[in-house]
Amino acid sequence: MVARVKLPKKQRRRKTIKLYLRVLMFSFVFLGSGIWLYEESGKLLEYTKPVNTTTIQVYDMERNILMSMDLEEYLVGVLAAEMPASFHLSALQAQAVAARTFAMSRIKNPSMKVQTFHPEAQITTSPEICQAWISEEEQRRRWGNSYEIYRQKVAEAVQTTCGQVLTWQGELAEALYHASCGGGNTEAAANVWGNHVPYLVSVACNHPQDKHSQEETVFTWQEFGQKLQLENEVSVGNFGDFISVLSRTAAKHVEKIRVGNRIMTGGQLRSLLGLKSSQFTYQIKEDSIIFKTEGYGHGVGMCQHGADHYAKQGYDYQQILAYYYPGTVVEKW
Ligand SMILES: [Zn+2]
Repeated sequence: MVARVKLPKKQRRRKTIKLYLRVLMFSFVFLGSGIWLYEESGKLLEYTKPVNTTTIQVYDMERNILMSMDLEEYLVGVLAAEMPASFHLSALQAQAVAARTFAMSRIKNPSMKVQTFHPEAQITTSPEICQAWISEEEQRRRWGNSYEIYRQKVAEAVQTTCGQVLTWQGELAEALYHASCGGGNTEAAANVWGNHVPYLVSVACNHPQDKHSQEETVFTWQEFGQKLQLENEVSVGNFGDFISVLSRTAAKHVEKIRVGNRIMTGGQLRSLLGLKSSQFTYQIKEDSIIFKTEGYGHGVGMCQHGADHYAKQGYDYQQILAYYYPGTVVEKW
């Protein structure tokens, strides 16, 4: 049995103050002027809504409702949806800045496509139109027993970068990002959409293979023809010559491809077939065509798996952002 020694009053008070400071340090995560109060175990006890901060009108595509949210609170839901919370904190912080930049540009420049869902909407929860977002309920479901720890980590990434955005020559940058480039190089915006953006250029991205590195998608010729609306052109006997890659970019994405008599970009074919990326090869079989993709997403801007890799190598979030968006500046707006 361990004997309990009672400390003198002064020492007891000092110990209490130290403990209080420690609890303060580990327990509070400030979001804007809102306060997230956690136990040291990571359990979320209380959240006080911030005042006088930027609000964003978010259209929830699942529930078909418009939500008025604090921007920083919204970003916690974006990070939860867009990047695995198990990633390094620096990668999550870089993601927070990129996601905030995108949200701020949607607030500043309203999108007509977004407003078709609701006239007051500034952003939607659709990753196809904007960036993904999930509710606290969905976060609990997705993270299970790790909910408290992950929620705290994601909130910390948002809080420690509070108000920070990525700019290019004083204007909000287009902070595009994607899940994985496949491990090699990111893609230049010019190769995907045809317009050159000085900071959305191809950079080396030497991260190890990840779950998106090699994926196979099989289509029967009938399915393939239907998806491309080329049913009449696809017939037995012409499969071998039916499709051919005309050019690839330096990052190995298909730039131009001929399908039947149609010439399209790799991105267009990717979108029609719902492929993970335009970095693909294909194999023609008698009754089907097999696509092997590398990476996930358009490949432009920050590669999330690469960000996690470089974070583990010691890069902080500013270095990660400077690497993937060369020439941009992180600043508080
Ligand atoms: Zn990458």
